[in-house]
Amino acid sequence: MELTSPRTIRAIADRFGFTFKKGLGQNFLTSPEVLEKIAQAAEIEDGVLEIGPGFGVLTQTLCEYAEKVVAVEIDSRLNEVLEFTLSGYRNVKVINADIMKTDIKKLIRDEFGDKRISVAANLPYYITTPVITRLLEEKLPINNIVVMVQKEVAQRLCALPGGKDYGAITLLCRYFTAPEIITNVKAGLFVPPPKVDSAVVRLKMLDAPAVSVKSEDMFFKTVRFAFAQRRKTLMNCLSSGFGIPKDELSDIFEKANIEPSRRGETLSIEEFANMADRISEYFG
Ligand code: SAM
Repeated sequence: MELTSPRTIRAIADRFGFTFKKGLGQNFLTSPEVLEKIAQAAEIEDGVLEIGPGFGVLTQTLCEYAEKVVAVEIDSRLNEVLEFTLSGYRNVKVINADIMKTDIKKLIRDEFGDKRISVAANLPYYITTPVITRLLEEKLPINNIVVMVQKEVAQRLCALPGGKDYGAITLLCRYFTAPEIITNVKAGLFVPPPKVDSAVVRLKMLDAPAVSVKSEDMFFKTVRFAFAQRRKTLMNCLSSGFGIPKDELSDIFEKANIEPSRRGETLSIEEFANMADRISEYFG
């Protein structure tokens, strides 16, 4: 079944009386080339978790690469559609659930045992950041996360220090992964087309975090506070965030060898780690 054909998508929608819900980000991909790129970038060993299968177009491609595919879809109207479109595959399981309310660690253990898996998703835009944050922070047995996201979000996930795209989510990605834009995807390659272009990003999990810090919690707090008010200097952001008086914070900046007038977006991940460690020492 050629799910990349817009005509087929319309025919399936008609057959099941399915109407696209914009609020759930239901824009379905129609490019075989992009589907292949996602599946290959995921470097699948055995298992894949897919978030949001829709009509199952990416699911079908993943089934060709994986031993087992588990697809979590929030929209129960898609149950019967997926039963139909995936009827030719024996290695897929569809779970009707909201990924944001799913215990992902338990799901992976239950479905894949102790294997490390890949995650692939053409993510609904409204949950992009919370899903990526959860996948990274929960320290799951994952090798690669390959996600289609809004182009601007892709640039943020993969940004380098110094620009407006560089922020807290960039550092979260850089701490745990090697982020990379795999390909850009024009809005016209979806049915129905969204308002913005997209890009496929791979977050390849590192064996160990990119920098070693005394306290991960303190590292991410420092990052969060540094970007909480982007127009303010690091001195102002960290002083109000941590409640450290400026004269005491000056000493910390000096020890870290970082100019207090800099802004968060100019700090490399190593400088953030250094700053966070000095703050950890301050709090003892
Ligand atoms: N994978 C298909 C494709 O590539 O064409 C569909 C992608 S579509 C952009 C996003 C899918 O995610 C939709 O099927 C939508 O119903 C589903 N979805 C939205 N929110 C979800 C959530 N919280 N949990 C699981 N699935 C969700």
